[in-house]
Amino acid sequence: MSQAHDGVVLGAHVDAPAGSPSAVGLAERDHPAVRAQLSDYLDGGLAISEVERVSRHLDSCADCTAYLATLRRTVTLLGELSTPSAPARARDATIQRALSES
Ligand SMILES: [Zn+2]
Repeated sequence: MSQAHDGVVLGAHVDAPAGSPSAVGLAERDHPAVRAQLSDYLDGGLAISEVERVSRHLDSCADCTAYLATLRRTVTLLGELSTPSAPARARDATIQRALSES
């Protein structure tokens, strides 16, 4: 009796090809366009219609949602860093000097 050909790996070949067909509803060119708007989206700088378009894209696009999460975290970090004392004092000193000279 042979025990070598058991067919154990049957079904292993159903892997989907690299191009996922699940993204059919999304136009590929929308990704860069949406990502370009994400910082304005966070800032509240977009028109309502644009906000809706971006949110609708985010609803169906995990990639851009992840991108938005990264961007939001970056913006938060930058916000925490945006009160550097040294440059602000240097600028004040420059202004004071300019004022005292005039
Ligand atoms: Zn996208």
